[in-house]
Amino acid sequence: MSRISWDQYFMTQSHLLALRSTCTRLAVGATIVRDKRIIAGGYNGSIAGGVHCSDEGCYVIDNHCVRTIHAEMNAILQCAKFGVPTAAAEIYVTHFPCLQCCKAIIQAGIQKVYYAVNYKNHPYAIELFEQSGVNVEHVELDENLLRQNNQEQIEFVSYLLTKLSAANISDEEKNELREKANSLFEQ
Ligand SMILES: [Zn+2]
Ligand SMILES: [Zn+2]
Repeated sequence: MSRISWDQYFMTQSHLLALRSTCTRLAVGATIVRDKRIIAGGYNGSIAGGVHCSDEGCYVIDNHCVRTIHAEMNAILQCAKFGVPTAAAEIYVTHFPCLQCCKAIIQAGIQKVYYAVNYKNHPYAIELFEQSGVNVEHVELDENLLRQNNQEQIEFVSYLLTKLSAANISDEEKNELREKANSLFEQ
């Protein structure tokens, strides 16, 4: 079995964090890394203890949800809260950072941004990253890494198809196949 690369490992972590998002408009995750160690993580959501967009709907002003704090901002603020230096760190984000987060990333001394999905990439954000020497790299998430039993699923489906084409299957065998399918595909 081959080992997962660092880039995929941190990018997967950001995608896991995005699953914690409470904003229904977009789920974003961010992971701050220093010396190949995760030092902070964040997702877009309300202030601690606040109501959630997923419960009350988004609070939209000028086409932006103003209730949530962005994932990158939450990760940086987590470092501020616990006194963790962000100088020379790197950040892995599911989506290209917005202009506000871009500026916060630069000011926090983060040196490199890895992003998985292009998202309204603001030309001024691109310009500011360039101007401040922050390296930006596109890292696509390998989604198969999140499906550990993917290969097993494929093999099972092809076995199932062979079996079905053989026509006469006993009820016992059918039940076995059904149970196996349930265990493989249930989320
Ligand atoms: Zn929202
Ligand atoms: Zn942002």
